[in-house]
Amino acid sequence: MAVTRRTLLAGLVSCPVCASTALAAGAHWSYEGHGGPQEWGSLESGFQACAMGSQQSPINLEGAVQAAGTGPTLAWKPDAFRIVNNGHAIQADVVGDAGTATMGGKTYILRQFHFHAPSEHTVNGERTAMEAHFVHEAPDGNLLVAGVFMKVGKANAGFAEVMKVAPTTEGAAVLKTPLDATAFLPAQRATYRYEGSLTTPPCSEVVDWNVFATPIEVSEADIAAFRAIFPMNARPLQAVNRRFLLRID
Ligand SMILES: [Zn+2]
Repeated sequence: MAVTRRTLLAGLVSCPVCASTALAAGAHWSYEGHGGPQEWGSLESGFQACAMGSQQSPINLEGAVQAAGTGPTLAWKPDAFRIVNNGHAIQADVVGDAGTATMGGKTYILRQFHFHAPSEHTVNGERTAMEAHFVHEAPDGNLLVAGVFMKVGKANAGFAEVMKVAPTTEGAAVLKTPLDATAFLPAQRATYRYEGSLTTPPCSEVVDWNVFATPIEVSEADIAAFRAIFPMNARPLQAVNRRFLLRID
């Protein structure tokens, strides 16, 4: 049976959504110093894609090919979301049903969203203060991640709610009222699309990336609150290699 490189690398991990799998396995990884991004691929056998992969994320979004069509259809709904500090980011885990993303006739279920500071992707080399990733999973294990750039401006009600309860050390908290993740979506939906990977170990190349070109605004105080917990949790830019970057307006 022919096994493609992509299948092989995807097969290295059984649960690509579960960052905690890596912690349970005992591998210590970080964003700087010991266990940093240059070492991820050799920290444990399941992390090999971080070093050997050819479709890694994040990338600089530049020189996109204009494409027809639409981005993913996001049908999100309010959920009680469990807010977790997992040692690498603040993450909101879906508790019940927070809806889906549909793309090319395939439906993906929203599992969690989390934040990076500064942004992981860049647009023409420019970074924003933060970036949110909305992770959706299809029954076959493939992921669709919607990326939202966040810049300093007026407060965003959703991000303010999350940061109000975000644990400052590893642990979990509950929201007082259900949260509607659509609060994080920009009004303009121009989208960059490319095939890539998780930006954290095990770096599995199973992600259909859809990054909105237009940032949302969040308050400087909420960004400061996040950076007080995670001063820097962005993986360095990865080589584009032989990939197509599409832009859908
Ligand atoms: Zn992420």
